[in-house]
Amino acid sequence: MSVATLVLALLANQLGGIAPDIDQPTAPFWRNLPVGGVFGRIIDKMLGGHRFITHSLFGLVALGFLFHLLLVFLQPIMHGVDINLVWWAFIIGMISHLIMDTLTKEGVPWLLPIPIKFGVPPIKSLRITTGKNVENFIVFPLLGVILVAIFVMHYAVFVDLLHKRVIG
Ligand SMILES: [Zn+2]
Repeated sequence: MSVATLVLALLANQLGGIAPDIDQPTAPFWRNLPVGGVFGRIIDKMLGGHRFITHSLFGLVALGFLFHLLLVFLQPIMHGVDINLVWWAFIIGMISHLIMDTLTKEGVPWLLPIPIKFGVPPIKSLRITTGKNVENFIVFPLLGVILVAIFVMHYAVFVDLLHKRVIG
């Protein structure tokens, strides 16, 4: 794996990790933009509020498809980048977000348009409350672990590449 692929996979993973929250006006995704609050509220109205279309299998496929289009579009300027790996990093980020949200009290409407929110464990009071703690102590370390896993899986290729460039 090239360094460019690794860096882009890292970014794609983070992007995938926050992408589902575009349907939430208070999400970090919107807060970090200057006019985010306004757009967030409009999107919120359009999508029906908290945890809607982008928090479902349909949303996963739709955003995955859009991200793939973007990668194919950008491919001519991304020399030596494994776009498949970058795409998977995005999908892994999104799936880990949805899994983490499933562990919270609100649950996730995985099967939209069927409007049932699923949660693990099924008993609401046993689930965690949404908040910063979840993000800071579970989501980000998990994303970190996944990234390290991706790196380790491609470690041999990486070392080989380094060897050719630096030593041989
Ligand atoms: Zn979410």
